[in-house]
Amino acid sequence: MSVADEFVERRMLKFMCFNCEHPAMLISKKEKIGTNDDGSEKFKIELTCPRCKAVDSFILNDSSEATLSKSENSERIPDASKVL
Ligand SMILES: [Zn+2]
Repeated sequence: MSVADEFVERRMLKFMCFNCEHPAMLISKKEKIGTNDDGSEKFKIELTCPRCKAVDSFILNDSSEATLSKSENSERIPDASKVL
């Protein structure tokens, strides 16, 4: 079971909304954007706040497996173990 398997559309991620500070966001889109040198697949994960509908995103497996990028709008790195 890889980290990427945890990130499934319609699950929630415990990650604070940059806009309204809601404590969790919905995984609204998972898009494969490439393959890393270690063979893992690289994804863009889009998050939508269930309260204010703000959209944020980050890169999952950013250059290597289990590495997450800062989110585009919050400048914070999501915790891969916080998928609910
Ligand atoms: Zn929000």
